[in-house]
Amino acid sequence: MKYEWAIIGGGVHGCTIANYLIKSGRTTTKDLVILDPHDEPMKRWKALTSRIDMKYLRSPFVHHIDVKAFSLQQFHDPSNHTDFYGPYKRPSLSLFNEHCSSIIQEIDLTKCWIKGRVIEVCKEAIGWEILTSSNRTVLAENIVICISANESVHIPKWAEGIRAEGLCRISHIFSEDLKSLEDLHPPIVVVGGGITAAHTVIKLSKIFPGDVTLLSRHELRVHGFDSDPGWLGQKNMQSFSKEKDYDMRRKYITTARHRGSMPKEIYQKLKNLERNGLLRIVLDEVLTISKKETDFGLKLKSDTEEMVTKSILFATGFSFSVQETSWLKKLILSEKLRCANCGYPIVNQKLEWCPHLYVSGPLAELEIGPVSRNISGARKAAERIVNHHIL
Ligand SMILES: Cc1cc2nc3c(=O)[nH]c(=O)nc-3n(C[C@H](O)[C@H](O)[C@H](O)COP(=O)(O)OP(=O)(O)OC[C@H]3O[C@@H](n4cnc5c(N)ncnc54)[C@H](O)[C@@H]3O)c2cc1C
Repeated sequence: MKYEWAIIGGGVHGCTIANYLIKSGRTTTKDLVILDPHDEPMKRWKALTSRIDMKYLRSPFVHHIDVKAFSLQQFHDPSNHTDFYGPYKRPSLSLFNEHCSSIIQEIDLTKCWIKGRVIEVCKEAIGWEILTSSNRTVLAENIVICISANESVHIPKWAEGIRAEGLCRISHIFSEDLKSLEDLHPPIVVVGGGITAAHTVIKLSKIFPGDVTLLSRHELRVHGFDSDPGWLGQKNMQSFSKEKDYDMRRKYITTARHRGSMPKEIYQKLKNLERNGLLRIVLDEVLTISKKETDFGLKLKSDTEEMVTKSILFATGFSFSVQETSWLKKLILSEKLRCANCGYPIVNQKLEWCPHLYVSGPLAELEIGPVSRNISGARKAAERIVNHHIL
């Protein structure tokens, strides 16, 4: 059987695009397939957000996986006064997830699900041939690649050697080998200065009050969103889209992202914990790490005394490279797909990398701009793909 559409990656982006394709009538549940290594849709999103006990999303209520902007608002029970937070009505994670489940059920998305990691994509005369790690082959007319950057965690250089020893007391908050925060041995140092590090120390301070240190190499930065809302519309996107030089587009993206930042209420929570002696915040950078019996010693840039701790947890984000993702690399070479100097795809306004091959998320960044990885980026990508694919 040949599918009309194959979506590679069934996370927030993959589900949004599938929903738009089905609800717009561009395709049907039986003509669409989603390939993903997990058992069910959005598993990675749920794992990451629940790991850090994120109560509210950072994005506003109009950013969700459904087509109509007010869908989430209409879904919520007005008698529940904790469903939204703040002036931008940021939804609670539980409401957001329930809404996603309702959409997934509504369009019967699990019927489209094929569990398996894509390891090869080849262009054949009859369409795209997709091979999964479980040796399944799927044929499709159109492909959308929605794989995100959330799979391989980033570990700072100074820790690579000691981490390779496989010690369970040094881990990344998003590592699959980290089973439970309760099992960590205090005192604990959390390395990182952004919203994930903040959520992590808030959670840890409840389990190990007074035994948690947040070690950030920069001052804590407060920003409501991870980029200015101007990037959602023409205000900022006009000059971005006009820019022909992809190095410049990358610069725009890098400058626009408020990396390592957090909303004000999270910052205030950290400061309260610090004031009450439940959390220590240290602004410094690690130069080297040493292991001493059951402890780790951290030599810091601006402190002569070593910081001694029993456990280290990184909240240092992810590392992703298009060019180091082997099946993508192979596809780039075989189809002669264009990439910018930063290694990311150069796609047209319809997010087509070549005919019948579309991208979303980080892979669409040089076209969608700084919000591309976010939920709003998924909506933008879905609109472009669906509107392009007129019946
Ligand atoms: C903790 C956290 C909180 C966030 N909060 C917000 C927020 O509040 N608002 C917001 O707008 N954004 C937020 N984001 C950013 C972004 O919206 C999320 O990262 C979101 O999950 C991105 O969706 P995605 O589909 O690109 O990635 P994912 O949800 O990670 O899904 C990608 C899927 O692709 C699969 N995949 C990868 N490789 C392959 C392959 N070879 N074959 C098949 N499948 C593959 C993965 O296994 C995964 O299931 C947050 C991110 C994190 C990490």
